[in-house]
Amino acid sequence: MEPMEPNNKDASNASKNQCNSCADSSCSAAKRHDGEAEQDFLERRALQSRLCRIKHKIMVMSGKGGVGKSTVAVNLAISLMLAGKKVGLMDVDIHGPSVPTMLGLEGATITNSPDGLLPVELGHLKVMSMGFLLPNPDEAVIWRGPVKGGVIKQFLADVAWGDLDFLIVDAPPGTGDEPLSVCQLIEPIDGAVVVTTPQKIAAVDVRKSITFCRHVGMTILGVIENMSGFVCPHCNEVTPILRTGGGQAMAEDMGVPFLGSIPIDPLVAEAADAGQAFVMHYATSPTAEIMRKIVAPILAMDDKA
Ligand code: ADP
Repeated sequence: MEPMEPNNKDASNASKNQCNSCADSSCSAAKRHDGEAEQDFLERRALQSRLCRIKHKIMVMSGKGGVGKSTVAVNLAISLMLAGKKVGLMDVDIHGPSVPTMLGLEGATITNSPDGLLPVELGHLKVMSMGFLLPNPDEAVIWRGPVKGGVIKQFLADVAWGDLDFLIVDAPPGTGDEPLSVCQLIEPIDGAVVVTTPQKIAAVDVRKSITFCRHVGMTILGVIENMSGFVCPHCNEVTPILRTGGGQAMAEDMGVPFLGSIPIDPLVAEAADAGQAFVMHYATSPTAEIMRKIVAPILAMDDKA
């Protein structure tokens, strides 16, 4: 598959207008840098004019795959939306986009408008995923780093996100090209939420994510330990079937905030497979309550702003 056809002309026209009406002369996009090519300046300004309209940008990361990063990203975005916020969810997991499946949006397509590509809307949530652009979900995307960076740039600059309170970015596992592109392109980014499981083996990888954030100067908003204990579907009691607390211990050891633990709950997996947002469809369940508590400090970022 080829990278998507950019709508640069429309996007940069729309952005130019917005940038011209912005009174902030201190904005880095207001002036062309010394030696900066005209095209690069226009692209940077187009990107900045989109990002200016998004109050908070948060990346969800993990050291390993399968720890529940996308589950956290989706439920974080939906929880913020249910709290009355305008939210965007950008899935940059180019090789394994699971957001469309988790939200029941498989087969949805992106349309073009004079203001740019229109994200798929689910209530007040705007969703953009590589999954919407792949004609066949079984198709493997074989792109090198710079191409992936270009697609992520398009997701940010060419998508008509509009005014948002939060943009949640679901990055692929690890510390490769995609998370690096996200934090280089989104300037400033509020920070990262790092998802891990309780086992030592996952915590070892998540330390790398934390080190990555420190290298690139990105704030770590907190660590979430997912799959921590098992919720009995009959009595709701949480049993620590495997060792728990590894994520918390690691967070304390590395001096980063710990946001909380989410148990293994069969309903979480069931909801994802059924394309239902767990916190919305099982809003009264104890696990949904746990998720809302974990999200509270992130929600509060907007109330403080
Ligand atoms: P990642 O994004 O880290 O690869 P996913 O969010 O795709 O991981 O989750 C992997 C699988 O585990 C999915 O099937 C998801 O539904 C399931 N899952 C994630 N968190 C939980 C949980 N707390 N309880 C039960 N199943 C979960």
